[in-house]
Amino acid sequence: MRLVRLLPPPVLQSAPRMASPQPSPQPRLTLFDLPLDVITLPATLDRLGEWMFRAPRAPHTVVTLNPEFIVQSRTHPEFVQAIQEADLVTADGVGIVWAARQLHGREVPRAPGYDIVKGLMERHGADLRVFFLGAKPGVAEQAAQNAVRDYGIQVAGVHHGYFDLPEDRRVAELVGSSQAHLVLTGMGAGRQETFNQYWRQVLGAPVIIGCGGVIDVFAGTADLAPAWTRKLGVEFIWRVGLDRRRWNRAPRLAQFVRLVQAEKRRAGGR
Ligand code: UDP
Repeated sequence: MRLVRLLPPPVLQSAPRMASPQPSPQPRLTLFDLPLDVITLPATLDRLGEWMFRAPRAPHTVVTLNPEFIVQSRTHPEFVQAIQEADLVTADGVGIVWAARQLHGREVPRAPGYDIVKGLMERHGADLRVFFLGAKPGVAEQAAQNAVRDYGIQVAGVHHGYFDLPEDRRVAELVGSSQAHLVLTGMGAGRQETFNQYWRQVLGAPVIIGCGGVIDVFAGTADLAPAWTRKLGVEFIWRVGLDRRRWNRAPRLAQFVRLVQAEKRRAGGR
C-alpha cells in the first residue's frame, strides 16, 4: 500500500504543522489504539455544518472507520497517526459497532461515509462548495455533474486520485485554492486518510473527509449497496460477496474478527 512518505523530504519540513485536534464534545472510545466517536448521523451532520458555516474557517479531517482500516493500520503507523489526529472518527458500518460492543459493551451509532456526504448535500445544497478528489480520470467529473443535478451543490473542483507522492503538494494546493467547504477524498483506505491529515493545512477546507468509493457511487460507476444491507449496516456482505475484485478482502474481515476476539480475551484476563 502506498500511503505517504515515511520520512518527510526537505521541502515538506516547512509544511504547516498539523493542529492538534480539539477535544470532542461527544464521548470517544478507543479501538486498537484508534479513536471512535460515539456520534449519530444527524449529530455528525450538525457538527460538520457548524465547522463549514458557523465556526471560524479552519481545516477539520473526518475518518469513517471500518474493519479494514483497523487491520491495515496495524502494519502502517502513519495510518494509525492519521486516524488518531482526525477531528472526527465515525463508525462506518456494523463491523465497528460489533467491535465496540465486544470490547466496551457500548452501542455506537453508525455514520457511514456515503450517508454523511449525501446528508450534507441534501442539507446545504447550493450553499455547499464541494471538491471531488479521487477515483479514475473522468469519474470525479461525472460525480460532480450528478451532484449538481441532484442536490444543486457548487463544484469547487475535481481531480482524479491516481497521482504519485511527489504530486501531492500540487494537488493539495489546487484543492486549497478552490475555497471548498467540503473535500471528498476517495483514493483508497489509508492513502486518503494520510493525504488528508498530512496536507490538512494546505487543503484548508473546514471539512475534509476520506470517503473510499463514494465518488464512484455518485458517478454511477459503482452501485450503492442495496438499501436493506445499508439499513442493517452489513453492506460489506454485498460488497465482498458480489464483487469479484473484493474477494481478496474477505480474509481481512476474518482477521478483524479474530483480532477483536483475541483483544476481548486479553482484556477479560486482566
Ligand atoms: N483510488 C484512487 N487512487 C488510488 C487507488 C484508488 O483514486 O491510487 C480510488 C478508486 O478508484 C476508488 C476509491 O479510490 O474510487 C476506493 O478504492 P477501493 O475501493 O479500491 O479502496 P478501499 O477504500 O475500498 O480500500
